[in-house]
Amino acid sequence: NHTLKNKRALITGGSRGIGAAIVRRLASEGVDVAFTYSSSPDRANEIVQAAQALGVQALAIQADSAEASQVIAAVEQTVEKLGGIDILVNNAGVLAIAPIDDFTLADFDRTIAVNVRAVFVATQAAVKHMKEGGRIINIGSANAERMPFAGGSVYAMSKSALQGLVQGLARDLGPRGITINNVQPGPIATEMNPPEGEFAEMLKKLMALPRYGSVEEIAGMVAYLAGPEAGYITGANLMIDGGFSA
Ligand code: NDP
Repeated sequence: NHTLKNKRALITGGSRGIGAAIVRRLASEGVDVAFTYSSSPDRANEIVQAAQALGVQALAIQADSAEASQVIAAVEQTVEKLGGIDILVNNAGVLAIAPIDDFTLADFDRTIAVNVRAVFVATQAAVKHMKEGGRIINIGSANAERMPFAGGSVYAMSKSALQGLVQGLARDLGPRGITINNVQPGPIATEMNPPEGEFAEMLKKLMALPRYGSVEEIAGMVAYLAGPEAGYITGANLMIDGGFSA
């Protein structure tokens, strides 16, 4: 079943964690993949090799999501090297946690730049090249709707902002046959959110399924949304959170 075969995708933040799993999953379905990273060139290179071993084109692009010019350049490079873009996955994100008295403006600005502004910038650059059937998938968070611990307010705000962005952009892009959706994971085992320790135990107590999700579970939902079967889903904020928000 190669319904995604020969599509071309750009995934932001594909060197580690959820983004790396999305790169691998799309590559396994025959998608030519480009992805960005900011500070992990060795990890990025490993993912390129893993994708190429699956028989597709793969390239890693160093681009800091906080810099709009670098995000635009990454989209342009994807189009140039892969011959177009059919799928954009806005995955790169940062998590800064601090109580209100200590939260710095620099962390506030960086959170908004990477988690929100870059999503808009990449989307604007990509849809210039996308044809009917194009797919934009953002990785939001279950924290957009439930933030059960102190210190996460700015992160939650950044992910709530994606909900409004996705809903509004669905209206812009619908007439062009392009869908845009927001995948909202609960706790997923990555370096951003390690599944061991006190914090993890606290989170597990809040879930219907008392376990962390895997990066592959998120990649599976992204692959579904990228495919032709998902053509009637747009403007949706989709929870995949083990019942964290139930
Ligand atoms: P990780 O920290 O494990 O990986 C983050 C990835 O994003 C890395 O590939 C990193 O690349 C890249 N990245 C970070 N900052 C930048 C930047 N400024 N420019 C370009 N790339 C960047 O995070 P996760 O995989 O856990 O998270 C991925 C997404 O999923 C994020 O948007 C996060 O908010 C969201 N999410 C995660 C959850 C979880 O529990 N893990 C839950 C809900 C949502 P490099 O190393 O090269 O900098």
